[in-house]
Amino acid sequence: MSDDTPTPISIARGDGIGPEIMDATLQILDAADARLDIEAIEAGRNVYERGVSSGIAPDAWDTLRDTRVLLKSPITTPQGGGYKSLNVTIRKTLSLYANVRPCVAFDPVIPTSAPGMDVTVVRENEEDSYSGIEYRQTGEVESALKFISRPGTERIVRFAFEYAREQNRDLVTCMTKDNILKRTDGLFHQVFEEVADEYPDIDHDHRIVDIGMAEVAVHPNDFDVIVAPNLYGDIISDITAELTGSVGLCGSGNIGDEFAMFEALHGSAPDIAGEGIANPSGLLHGAVLMLNHIGQNDVASRIRNAWLTTLEDGVHTPDIYDDSRSDQRADTEAFADAVIARLGQTPDQFDPVDYPATQTPSYSESAFRVPPERDETKELVGVDAFLEWRGGTPDDLGDTLQKLETNSLELTVITNRGMKVWPDGLPETFVSDHWQCRFEADEPIEVADVLSLLEHIDEAGLDLVKTEHLYDFDGEPGYTRGQGE
Ligand code: NAD
Repeated sequence: MSDDTPTPISIARGDGIGPEIMDATLQILDAADARLDIEAIEAGRNVYERGVSSGIAPDAWDTLRDTRVLLKSPITTPQGGGYKSLNVTIRKTLSLYANVRPCVAFDPVIPTSAPGMDVTVVRENEEDSYSGIEYRQTGEVESALKFISRPGTERIVRFAFEYAREQNRDLVTCMTKDNILKRTDGLFHQVFEEVADEYPDIDHDHRIVDIGMAEVAVHPNDFDVIVAPNLYGDIISDITAELTGSVGLCGSGNIGDEFAMFEALHGSAPDIAGEGIANPSGLLHGAVLMLNHIGQNDVASRIRNAWLTTLEDGVHTPDIYDDSRSDQRADTEAFADAVIARLGQTPDQFDPVDYPATQTPSYSESAFRVPPERDETKELVGVDAFLEWRGGTPDDLGDTLQKLETNSLELTVITNRGMKVWPDGLPETFVSDHWQCRFEADEPIEVADVLSLLEHIDEAGLDLVKTEHLYDFDGEPGYTRGQGE
C-alpha cells in the first residue's frame, strides 16, 4: 500500500453524545489530511431496539471484515433484558486480545496528582476471570473459573514489548498476584520473564499488583508500560486514567491480529446528549491511536500537537473549563474548529509529539488455531472430589471418606474453600458447605480408577458436586496444595 492510498475504516456513531463527538473527530481527521476511506456501520441503541441482543447489525460484520479497523463512539448498553455489552461482543468475536490505554497527565492545564505522568497500560483482553464461566456449586458457595493460557500470555506480553520498542519506551512492568495464584498468575509472570529475554534493549520488572498499584498511585513516573492479565488490567487502567486528572480525555485501542477497534474511554453521557457541549478529545485520542496503528503517524502527530496547542491556549469544553486556567468556553463544534485552526502548530508548554513510524499492519486471514502437540508426559495421579456436605466436623467427613478409599486412591487432605481442615484442622477455621476432598495415588492411575472411587462416594449417599483431575506434567504437579497443607 502506497502512503497516499486511503486506509479503509469502519465507524460506528454510537449513542448519546456519540454522534456529536464523532462528527467533531471526523472533521479534524479530514482537515488533518488523514488518508481514510470511511464506511459507517450500525451499532447501539437502534439495533438493540430492533431486538438484536448483541447491539450490532448482522451485516456490519461483513463491513468490519472488509475494513478490519473500527473507530467507535460510545454505546448506551440497555439495562437488563438479556442485552449483551457490545464492547465485550466485539472484543471477543474479533479476538481483540490487547487493550492499550495511554494515560498522560496534562498539567498544569488539567490539575492532577500525578504531574508528568505518561504510563501506557496493556491489558490482556480475552482470558482470566472474564471467561464468565461461573457456577453455584452448593447452597452456600458460588465459583468462577479463571483461565490463563501460555499462548494467550505470550502474545499479550510480546505485544507490550513491541509497543514499548516502537514507542521508544524504556521499561515494561508486569503486574500479577502470583504470590497467591501460583499457577495462573504464576504462568503469566513466568512467560513475561521468558519473553522479556527476547527484548534486552528494554528494561523489565514485575510487581505484585496490590503494592505495585500503590506505588503507581504515589510515584507514577517510575512506570512506563504496564502489562497485566484482564481483571487487574481493567482496574489498573481505570486508576491510571483517573490519575491523569481527566478520564474524559483518554482514548483506548483494542487490537488483535486481524482486527482493531479504537474508542474513547468514557460512555455515551446521556445527561448532556444533544446539547453540543461534549468534549470530543477522548474519541479524538482513540483516532490518534488508530492513525498510529495504520501507519499514519505523521497525521497522528499533527493532530496531537494541534490538540495540545488548543489545550494550552485555554480553549476548553465545559467539562474541563475553569475560570482560573481557561480563556474560552468552547462547545463541541468550536473546540473542533480550534483544533483545526492549529493544525501545523506545535505546543510551547507541553512537549510536542513526533510519533515514531509504525508498520502498517498486515492482517492475517482468519485461521482457526489447532494447538500444537506438546512434548511432555502427562500422568493422572489423583482427583479432587468436591462435596456439598453438612454432616458434622471435618474429622467426621475424613472418617467417612477414608472408608471409601480404593486400592489406588487414598484420602490425603480436605479443604474448605481452599483452607486445609483435615487432617489436623483447627476448630477456629470457618467452614461452609463446600468441601474439596483430595484423593492421591502413589503411582500413575487410569480414569477408571477415579470412576470407581466416585462410584463409592455416590453409593455412600454423599453429594458430589464437581471433580477435578490431578495431573503431573513431566513429573511436576499441575495443581496447588491447600492453604495450610
Ligand atoms: P459516562 O462516561 O457516559 O458519563 C459519566 C459522566 O461523565 C457524565 O456526567 C457525563 O456527562 C460525563 N462525560 C462523559 N463523557 C463526556 C464527554 N466526552 N464530555 C463531557 N462530559 C462527559 O458514564 P455512564 O453515565 O456511567 O454511562 C452512560 C452509558 O454509557 C451507559 O449506558 C454505559 O453502559 C455506557 N458506556 C459505554 C461505553 C462504551 O461504549 N465504550 C463505556 C462506558 C459506558
